[in-house]
Amino acid sequence: APVVAVVGRPNVGKSTLVNRLIGRRQAVVEDTPGVTRDRIAYDAIWNGRRFTVVDTGGWEPDAEGRAAAIAAQAEVAISTADVIILVIDAQVGATDADEAAVRILHRTRKPVILVANKVDDTRAESDAAVLWSLGLGEPYPVSALHGRGSGDLLDIIQDRLPELPSADGDIESGPRRVALVGRPNVGKSSLLNRLAGEDRVVVDSVAGTTVDPVDSLIELDDEDWRFVDTAGLRKRVKQASGTEFYASLRTQAAVEAAEVAVVLLDAAEPISEQDQRVLSQVVEAGRALVIAFNKWDLVDDDRRHYLTREIERELRRITWAPRVNVSALTGRAVAKLAPALRTALAGWEQRIPTGELNQWISGLIQARPHPIRGGKAPKVLFMTQAGIRPPKFVLFTSGQLDPQYIRFIERRLREDFGFTGSPISITVKARE
Ligand code: GDP
Repeated sequence: APVVAVVGRPNVGKSTLVNRLIGRRQAVVEDTPGVTRDRIAYDAIWNGRRFTVVDTGGWEPDAEGRAAAIAAQAEVAISTADVIILVIDAQVGATDADEAAVRILHRTRKPVILVANKVDDTRAESDAAVLWSLGLGEPYPVSALHGRGSGDLLDIIQDRLPELPSADGDIESGPRRVALVGRPNVGKSSLLNRLAGEDRVVVDSVAGTTVDPVDSLIELDDEDWRFVDTAGLRKRVKQASGTEFYASLRTQAAVEAAEVAVVLLDAAEPISEQDQRVLSQVVEAGRALVIAFNKWDLVDDDRRHYLTREIERELRRITWAPRVNVSALTGRAVAKLAPALRTALAGWEQRIPTGELNQWISGLIQARPHPIRGGKAPKVLFMTQAGIRPPKFVLFTSGQLDPQYIRFIERRLREDFGFTGSPISITVKARE
């Protein structure tokens, strides 16, 4: 379902508005681990159209400390939303924090609905009208508390929701979206600048605004790629106040906004826990993955030998990810990045016809049957690929399969069909 994110400063009435939009308090439909309190999703329906409303904590883009972490949550919500509702307290008017929020929203290129809340009667409507000056278009006056204007707002939301995807239409058009992520100092800025050739970056900004673009459009191998959320990288601004938690939320936002992630590792340093966390973020988000070892100019024979062992040990779970060894400093092998991205995206979108899949699984089971338990072995009745981006498989069986056997199937699926660069999942539906 399309996602509507509700953002705004603390106490402007976001949660009250969300309650209005969903009709009543509903069960939480999404609980993002670790971020539960600051980002909650609800199911909503209006005129038969379903959508998800995401309630966020207070958004103060320039905040520090705990408030910064909450703000980052709002930014994650924005990056994954189809429509954004910015709520402003019309009784207070637009504050500096609101204006900072507007600047960020200008860059998203997503539909933004400006809501002037706490307009409790007709007299207060002029408070809403002054918000035209924010440049986000018409401010919609509502009173979330009393319900005033909420029906109109729902109509407006509905108008802005994306078209329903066609049956086969889950491929979006436009340049592929890439997240360039990795722990601090692995060379993200250096690589981005190397790829872009600095002045060759075609910046992508909304017409009529002069704000910094969030994304960089870079041409590699005769193809445009959209590197998402690179504003900080390009300016070489290091988040001075960047706690690791905050940095990890930024990574999450970039990964969620992307189709494929390049996780940059420092080839001259041991693979760290922080590297592993970034890799897990990509896998858990279900995005395609390319691993790039940077600073290859510093790798001598000794280090290379040790690194091979380290990769075997530390990257065992993700041997399917294409690896490239690059140097942002010398430009070594950076031309290999685009082919690796294409490979990973192809694996991420690979689909195997049901007939072929069933032929394959029955051959596999004949060659290596499931171990017998309690006198008989569970049978696989049917296998189908339920989705792509990333590939998802469903096995219908006559009993639970051993986890080991599921891993065996996954391994063979990769050996026989590839799925290079993509996480895949297998779900078992057992008829007991
Ligand atoms: P970021 O924090 O990931 O954006 O990392 P930076 O791009 O700021 O790079 C961190 C440091 O590593 C800087 O001192 C860079 O000059 C250096 N660096 C980046 N790439 C390379 C490389 O390929 N080789 C070497 N030797 N140093 C590099």
